Amino acid sequence: MTTDDRRLDGNALAGPLSELFALDLAAATITCAHCGASGPLGAHHLYSDAPAHVVRCPTCTGVVLRFASDSRGLRFEMTGTRLLTVAT
Ligand SMILES: [Zn+2]
Repeated sequence: MTTDDRRLDGNALAGPLSELFALDLAAATITCAHCGASGPLGAHHLYSDAPAHVVRCPTCTGVVLRFASDSRGLRFEMTGTRLLTVAT
């Protein structure tokens, strides 16, 4: 079996991802990509007075994620998050 034989398109991930985005993420643990600190989303600093909601690490103040919902759709950027863990 080759790599090409195993490859699916991104649509195949929509079902499994719906499991994550249906959960209450308030208790999710975020590991900061900037400094490596981990903590619950609820303990992070939120700035909602920008075009997007901006979440910053309480240890280093680095941006861990941004979320926007507007006429262009929903946008979720997690460049500053090394790992998001959600207990199930
Ligand atoms: Zn940090």
